[in-house]
Amino acid sequence: MLKPNVHYTELKDSYLFYHIAQKTKAYLDAHPGTHLYRMGIGDVSQPLCSAAIDALHKAVDDQANAATFHGYMPECGAPFLRETIAEHYAKRGVALETQEVFVSSGASDELGDILDLFDHDCTVLIPEPAYPAYVDANVIAGHRIVHLPTGKENGFLPQPDERTNADLIYLCSPNNPTGAVLSKEKLQTWVDFANGTGAVILFDAAYEAFIEDNALPHSIFELSGARTCAIEICSLSKTAGFTGTRLGYTVIPNTLERCDQNFNAMWVRNRTTKTNGISYILQRGGAAVFTDEGQAQIKAQIAVYKNNAKLLTQALDELGIWYTGGKNAPYIWLQCPNGLSSWDFFDLLLKEAQIIGTPGAGFGACGEGYLRFSCFGSPGDTAQAAKRLKEVCGK
Ligand code: PLP
Repeated sequence: MLKPNVHYTELKDSYLFYHIAQKTKAYLDAHPGTHLYRMGIGDVSQPLCSAAIDALHKAVDDQANAATFHGYMPECGAPFLRETIAEHYAKRGVALETQEVFVSSGASDELGDILDLFDHDCTVLIPEPAYPAYVDANVIAGHRIVHLPTGKENGFLPQPDERTNADLIYLCSPNNPTGAVLSKEKLQTWVDFANGTGAVILFDAAYEAFIEDNALPHSIFELSGARTCAIEICSLSKTAGFTGTRLGYTVIPNTLERCDQNFNAMWVRNRTTKTNGISYILQRGGAAVFTDEGQAQIKAQIAVYKNNAKLLTQALDELGIWYTGGKNAPYIWLQCPNGLSSWDFFDLLLKEAQIIGTPGAGFGACGEGYLRFSCFGSPGDTAQAAKRLKEVCGK
């Protein structure tokens, strides 16, 4: 008899967002018509920039004309977009070959699919607190998962030590949920560790566009030695509002090999087997994001989210509440006041201030006692939330 993948039975219920929705609904049922300040959302609130919209419209018109029509696209990405992305890296001092850039339909898709490259008998290190998809994708793949807890004492920044033992290492910087960002020195420690042990780092750079401090790395390939130990997964979702439009890219250096197998060549084989490329229209929209005009427009959008972050961090500073993030990242990870648990503080904010945060305990055991605020909401709501936070926590 056919056996289903038994690892699906090992997945834990995605309790976090379900439970938030339940509590929110119960509150609204009891207080109909109340406006809630949703500081938990991970989705963006601003529309696509006009450079992307114009390029998308033009690409639709291309598809109406036999002379400019595109059918199946190259599986690894349109050359025009792969070249554009390689040039974007070059501007930051990272030299990439066009063939090292793969266009994807987003980081989530890649984070799951990329596991095809690794043996099932593999130990995966996931620093905690973590983006929940890392754990679930590896449970489904049947991998052994080891967690590396982080905390206030190390600023929620993971570092390897003599006990660290893993084949595959997830690093997310700027981090979701903590907003913490690995410095060049700390990231170099991981790169040296991976090159020393033969591990491979999956570097999730979905939030790199929020980095404003020039000393912090946007890409793991800014570090020496990364070309022999790292894969970088990027997305236009949070950078340019493509959450619903779907576009991302992945960098796999030609120089990344283990046991005489080349990961770039394997990914070419994977993509040419499992995909038929990303829509021409979307790739044109994505390419427009990398033009000077597109870059200026997305910077202006990111500035709106950063201003939201400033309103919230100013309130936390005034209240003397400890937090990470909010500067080079769109998330703020704060310690719940008065020793409250994540869910107790969630309840307090909902009932007393109509603010919805995301309880840190939902991102792993070491998130207990913390709460995440997202800065992707509307400026008006964020300003109100900051004011209400001060009133409730300043009592
Ligand atoms: N990686 C991290 C850390 C995220 O927070 C998210 C989305 O919230 C993703 C990846 C997924 O991005 P995408 O929309 O490109 O699938």
